Amino acid sequence: MTKTYQNLIGGDWKSADSGATFTSVSPANHDDVIGEFASSSTSDVEAAVSAAKRAFPAWSQMPAPKRGEILFRIARVLAEHKEELSKLMTREMGKVLPEARGDVQEAIDVAYYMAGEGRRLFGQTVPSEMPDKFAMAIRRPIGVVGIITPWNFPVAIPAWKLFPALICGNTAVIKPASDTPACLVRFVELLLEGGLPEGVVNVVTGSGGEVGNAIVDHPDVRVISFTGHTDTGVEISTRAAKTLKRVSLELGGKNPIVIWEDADLDLALDSVVWSSFGTSGQRCTAASRLIVHRNVHDDFVHRLQQRVAKLVLGDGLDEATDVGPVINDAAVERIASYAAIGRDEADLVIGGEPARDGKLAKGSFFQPTIFTEVKPDARIAQEEIFGPVASVIPVTDWDETVRIVNSVKYGLSTSLFTQDINLAFRSIRDFDSGLGYVNHGTIGAEAHLPFGGTKATGNGHREVGQAALEFFSEWKSVYVDYSGKLQRAQIDTTFIDEQ
Ligand code: NAP
Repeated sequence: MTKTYQNLIGGDWKSADSGATFTSVSPANHDDVIGEFASSSTSDVEAAVSAAKRAFPAWSQMPAPKRGEILFRIARVLAEHKEELSKLMTREMGKVLPEARGDVQEAIDVAYYMAGEGRRLFGQTVPSEMPDKFAMAIRRPIGVVGIITPWNFPVAIPAWKLFPALICGNTAVIKPASDTPACLVRFVELLLEGGLPEGVVNVVTGSGGEVGNAIVDHPDVRVISFTGHTDTGVEISTRAAKTLKRVSLELGGKNPIVIWEDADLDLALDSVVWSSFGTSGQRCTAASRLIVHRNVHDDFVHRLQQRVAKLVLGDGLDEATDVGPVINDAAVERIASYAAIGRDEADLVIGGEPARDGKLAKGSFFQPTIFTEVKPDARIAQEEIFGPVASVIPVTDWDETVRIVNSVKYGLSTSLFTQDINLAFRSIRDFDSGLGYVNHGTIGAEAHLPFGGTKATGNGHREVGQAALEFFSEWKSVYVDYSGKLQRAQIDTTFIDEQ
């Protein structure tokens, strides 16, 4: 029998007010129904925001090191349930099991890291410009945070957003992607098992148009943290401006790996297979452009074709599988339409079709695909396809390479394979992106460094690391005057040149 899941509001699991539900199915086999979920609307969001608001005073006034202890316990609970949560993720979202384990591990890492921040949350103390006066700036929680997440990292991305928000003393309402609600519900159950008080995190499942908009519009939600498509981010940002919310957007990418003529080709090949076809190309940091020096192009493309031909498509729970499904049939159609565009724009090396044979027939699969002789301004080289499709762009000149790297509207992750230290440092300086790699693919960010991108990949904020604390806390500057007399800033000062 299909399991039914509910919203979490103020510590209670509740159906949507309307009683409506939607189903989540496995992309590897559409007959495998993961569960029925609340198809919520504005009134459910209203209840969730009220619950988060009620929980705010106690949570925000709990000493931050105590909040850190709860996060520490949560990290341990997540680690105990890592395998179970990873298997659920592979079933619901499709990524192969080792990658799902990595997704959960990222959440564990962020929980430990942010638990430690509970004993830091450093402020600033500075000398005052006046005698007998103390000056400092402290961090304050902001209030209720609205979190809207995509399906491609169904545990790691909620963790990236929730744990820094919580350690700073905020409470939250979270809406998961409609393709992966089970992962989020199970993740939040584990937060409660770790000791998170009622109402601190509330879950509302349902569509972006209904639930997402209601969160973004709500006047008591002070912060929105969103990851998803650039178009959705623009819409959210525009709506949120009406209530002057603080908004963090983590959006699309069109990430290049540059393979220079002196590159270690074996290493570059390993990295390209991992970066372009890992998670079926559905990572925001996936390498969808391979900018390859003409002198090694033919050798590289030949060897890449051989490697890709051996990749095994299938259910991510099967150990033999290298590449799992894409998220749903709409994604298969979108990728197929780009493959058709690619055939007109460039030379198809391998793939280019949905995969529907045998065991794949009931799922959403697309063949790993490579195009070459792709022009830098071709649509397949400019637009985010978000599937297992890589475009090879041959180059000969370094300045031209920099121009091509920077020619897309996004700026998330860039990578260069070379033995030339001068070029390596030039790439760090000149490639316009929030993440830069040398002799490593475009994927593999770590929890204690800022994550995010430039241009249309976001709006300038960064996730995780210290940067996340900046986003989820507000500065308060405090002056304590112990002179016992009126001292007027900028007026009662004596500078050396006035003496
Ligand atoms: P999406 O369609 O934009 O959806 C993301 C989330 O927003 C989902 O929960 C969705 O709900 C919700 N949503 C949709 N329309 C909304 C609206 N009008 N108002 C409020 N919420 C709305 O993106 P996706 O397909 O899930 O994710 C893929 C995209 O995410 C890619 O572009 C990828 O590059 C990007 N991404 C970026 C990063 C990064 O850090 N830069 C990381 C991962 C992914 P429903 O599911 O109910 O539609």
